[in-house]
Amino acid sequence: MDKIVIVVPCYNEQEVLRQFYAKLSNVLRELQDCSVSCLFVDDGSTDATLQILRELSAEDSNVHYRSLSRNFGKESAMLAGLDAANGDAVILMDADLQHPPELIPEMISWWRKGYDDVCMKRTDRRDETIFKRMMANLFYRVLQMVSRCTIQRNVGDFRLLDRRCVAALRLVRENQRFTKGLFTWIGFRKKELPFHVQPRAAGKTTWSYFALYNLAVEGLTSFTTAPLRLTTFLGLAVSLLAISYMFIVLINALLYGDPVAGYPTLMTVMLFLGGVQLLSLGILGEYLGRVFMESKQRPIYLVAEADGKDVLYAPEDSPERRIVRSVEKRGQLDETE
Ligand code: UDP
Ligand code: MG
Repeated sequence: MDKIVIVVPCYNEQEVLRQFYAKLSNVLRELQDCSVSCLFVDDGSTDATLQILRELSAEDSNVHYRSLSRNFGKESAMLAGLDAANGDAVILMDADLQHPPELIPEMISWWRKGYDDVCMKRTDRRDETIFKRMMANLFYRVLQMVSRCTIQRNVGDFRLLDRRCVAALRLVRENQRFTKGLFTWIGFRKKELPFHVQPRAAGKTTWSYFALYNLAVEGLTSFTTAPLRLTTFLGLAVSLLAISYMFIVLINALLYGDPVAGYPTLMTVMLFLGGVQLLSLGILGEYLGRVFMESKQRPIYLVAEADGKDVLYAPEDSPERRIVRSVEKRGQLDETE
């Protein structure tokens, strides 16, 4: 029987958690031919989330949880879930009921057909403001322009991953995680299914515009070094322009003498150059900062509590677990599909 683990990162979700669990178990009850367990990852919530998780896991032996020692962010919480989940397949979903659990059977059926990564593609972003949609559009455009992999549009974290993909994601231990990009980066056979994003059942989203901006920078810098190349290009273009201008000034001075003027031009050029230099420095800084963060090699998250037990890390513990083994084939994919 196939073993499927549903990984749910939760951060301050006390209002929806029970509702989510009720809805999920309704769907899971219908599933006969596989054993499904839930793994909640409490991402350092400050409300009753952890308490609710303790209760749920006491009531239902199929509910497990990990509680991180503080808020590490959704990306790290998801990795904590993936590290701890050992199923034949893992389903990632949000706790706020924006990802409808009713789609799980369909996801599993596509997985059985042989796909490794069944991603759910949102068909509309109508629940978002126009500004947010425009920004998302621009972000995808830029990312697609500069990167070699095909970026999946409007595909989020709601997906089913075969254990091969989970094992692959576990190998990627970068601190600054842009999971959306990592899903694309690992490759494997992907199937996109459309779905409607539901409005949040209760509680509120933790994503501010600033956080989204940070995520976008994260996405760009962790995926591509194109901005660095852009600075080289800018430098080159500005130098060429400067040289041409130099000749103009020189010839002007030779032909017509050199009356002291040109304060506005001087200012413009200086300010422009200053701007370009600061921008280039900033871009360099973004990458340098990332190198600095990664070079510290800190663990990506710390688990404080796991299924009712306190977690104590031994000094030699490494969260990195390399899973290398061969497994049976699930189904043969028809390449023409
Ligand atoms: N989440 C998390 N850690 C965080 C922020 C969010 O684990 O620091 C979880 C949250 O509980 C939810 C999911 O990530 O299950 C998506 O968060 P949210 O609904 O705030 O984001 P949105 O749906 O607006 O993208
Ligand atoms: Mg949400």
